Amino acid sequence: MTSTVLTVATMGEAASAVAQGATFFAGGTIIMRDINAGTAAASLVRTTDPSLKQIRISGETVTLGAGVTMANILANRDLAFLHPVARLVGGPQVRNMGTVGGNLFAPHPYGDFAVALLALGARVVMAGQGGARPVDDLLRDGTRSPGLVAAVEFARPRSGTFGFLKVSRVKPKGVSVLSVSALLPREGGRIRGARVAWGAMGPRPQRGTSAERALEGQSLTAETMGRAAAAAAEGLNPETDAIATDWYRREVAGVHLRRMLEQMERG
Ligand SMILES: Cc1cc2nc3c(=O)[nH]c(=O)nc-3n(C[C@H](O)[C@H](O)[C@H](O)COP(=O)(O)OP(=O)(O)OC[C@H]3O[C@@H](n4cnc5c(N)ncnc54)[C@H](O)[C@@H]3O)c2cc1C
Repeated sequence: MTSTVLTVATMGEAASAVAQGATFFAGGTIIMRDINAGTAAASLVRTTDPSLKQIRISGETVTLGAGVTMANILANRDLAFLHPVARLVGGPQVRNMGTVGGNLFAPHPYGDFAVALLALGARVVMAGQGGARPVDDLLRDGTRSPGLVAAVEFARPRSGTFGFLKVSRVKPKGVSVLSVSALLPREGGRIRGARVAWGAMGPRPQRGTSAERALEGQSLTAETMGRAAAAAAEGLNPETDAIATDWYRREVAGVHLRRMLEQMERG
């Protein structure tokens, strides 16, 4: 099937086209494969609206336009805490084209950046709709886009409270055996509001609620890390694919969670 690509000037026009059934074309790193295979939607829409590429840091709030690429993030010094995440998405070509918005809808085992956004407790701003919704809801709903994502926003994490680790077989740009990220804010040395997120441990990035329970209210000691590692795979149902079996993913989840927590603890 041939696809038509409509280019519009504003987010509003793009959102209307999406509402009428068009598929949004962002960086195209996933969609281009479908176009080449003749399986893409008949109607695609893209926009040149500059707001899609905006990075705004206002006080403690970071807002990333959905069209911000991994390379844009790596070029921004104020987003240094996200560099270890963006650097591990594909190779240079993918990072130059692949966007924050597209990563939210990337199928298993992709979606590494979405894992970090989930740990950060990001909120998703939909074009043409008021307010923002938790990224948790969007990721739970699956890879079918519910409209046009305009931006994601989140609080910049305090130093030493955010961690990310990706495990792949091919270095440096292989896809994930798994990825894991955490936000561990502290009050008086105790973790308050722990968020742990997993990638490739299920069909979509998801919260690691068992590990969160093990961490909540505790100091980040070796004992706490051990308890979180022991609980890591509870409630997760990873898939078997060419990269790893579901058994292997479950088996190594705790080891990698503990490694990431140790890295965070060292600062
Ligand atoms: C060789 C290769 C290696 C890769 N490696 C990785 C990797 O290591 N880690 C990883 O996470 N991903 C990886 N990917 C997947 C992909 O490149 C990234 O996930 C990228 O961020 C997708 O963004 P995009 O802008 O290219 O999406 P597109 O291909 O443009 O779109 C993908 C989907 O998202 C939807 N979409 C895009 N933007 C929006 C929006 N603003 N609102 C609503 N829907 C939207 C599109 O309609 C489409 O359904 C890889 C891909 C390739 C080809």
